[in-house]
Amino acid sequence: MSIPTEPIGSIPRPSGLIAAITGQAYSADLNGLYDKAINDTLREFEKTGSPVITDGEQTKSSFATYPLEGLTNLSAEGMKIEFADGHSRQLPLLTAGPFKYGNYAVKYLAAAQKLTKLPVKQAVISASALSLIYPSNGIPGYTQAEFMTDLLNECEKDIRQCLQQGAYKVQMDFTEGRLSLKLDPSGGVLKAFVDINNQVFNRFTTEEQQKLGVHVCPGGDHDSTHSADIDYADFLPQLFELNVGSFYLQLASEPDRVKVLKIIRQHLKPNQTAFIGVIDVLNPDIETSEIVRDRVLEAAAYIPLNQLGTTDDCGFSPFCDDVSTTRETAFAKIKARIEGTKLAEEKLYS
Ligand SMILES: [Zn+2]
Repeated sequence: MSIPTEPIGSIPRPSGLIAAITGQAYSADLNGLYDKAINDTLREFEKTGSPVITDGEQTKSSFATYPLEGLTNLSAEGMKIEFADGHSRQLPLLTAGPFKYGNYAVKYLAAAQKLTKLPVKQAVISASALSLIYPSNGIPGYTQAEFMTDLLNECEKDIRQCLQQGAYKVQMDFTEGRLSLKLDPSGGVLKAFVDINNQVFNRFTTEEQQKLGVHVCPGGDHDSTHSADIDYADFLPQLFELNVGSFYLQLASEPDRVKVLKIIRQHLKPNQTAFIGVIDVLNPDIETSEIVRDRVLEAAAYIPLNQLGTTDDCGFSPFCDDVSTTRETAFAKIKARIEGTKLAEEKLYS
């Protein structure tokens, strides 16, 4: 028996690539830089001993905006997401229908699979996050209902293509779940988000849903968060209503992990696995494998062993220009997760 362990997705881009993307340095061969970044990332990932890897999202603009790349029916002034340290990230707004993705995640998956023999996991953005690009004052000739029909179809297609391409898992990033309770403490928006995403998940068979997962966290950008002050207790019961097999939950950086574990135990359903975050991605200190082991043992006291997995609290660099963590630190932390999970496994299964 073994405890499954999976990464979330993103790895910091190499500094030369970031300089070229942000315009700090001119590169005549951006595609060459991208190819090298993917290849280097896969090699480093393999060295960590990780049984499942990702492409590190080296060529995504961000975890949320990749489907919008290349679209011409967008304007800049969409919803702003404020982080605790004062910086913000802004979504674009749709200006005309119909809504189609400019880019699908399967592209990243296929490129990575060509370069590694290990199973590759693919992250996709949630339908609920992209639902925010429809303007509140509407679009003439393209109703919100028409937009939602297009959006659900596109999100389903994004996931289905990855399954057909042989993704080990397809993980929907749902970072706006916890944030929604900050914007609407009544929980109405959260419930609407869960409903939207279930409308996508319900298009898949029970078997396929076991290959699908959801990642939640309080945000992780420039070492800052957008909703860490929202209590997990208000969020988790709704979360486990999502019809997927795997939940990738930020936990290492929670001030009271046991309280959260008790809520997980209460709401986790029999066919669901909780991958708990044992690596704090916002903290530059590298966890030892013993620290990770102890975090797993702590979780195992509350969560049935056959429903327990480990992960990192979040991706290491969800936006392409984030330099708050080095690649070396990210891979060292991943290695600690793999080794610490093994140590816990030896204790729990001995
Ligand atoms: Zn995250």
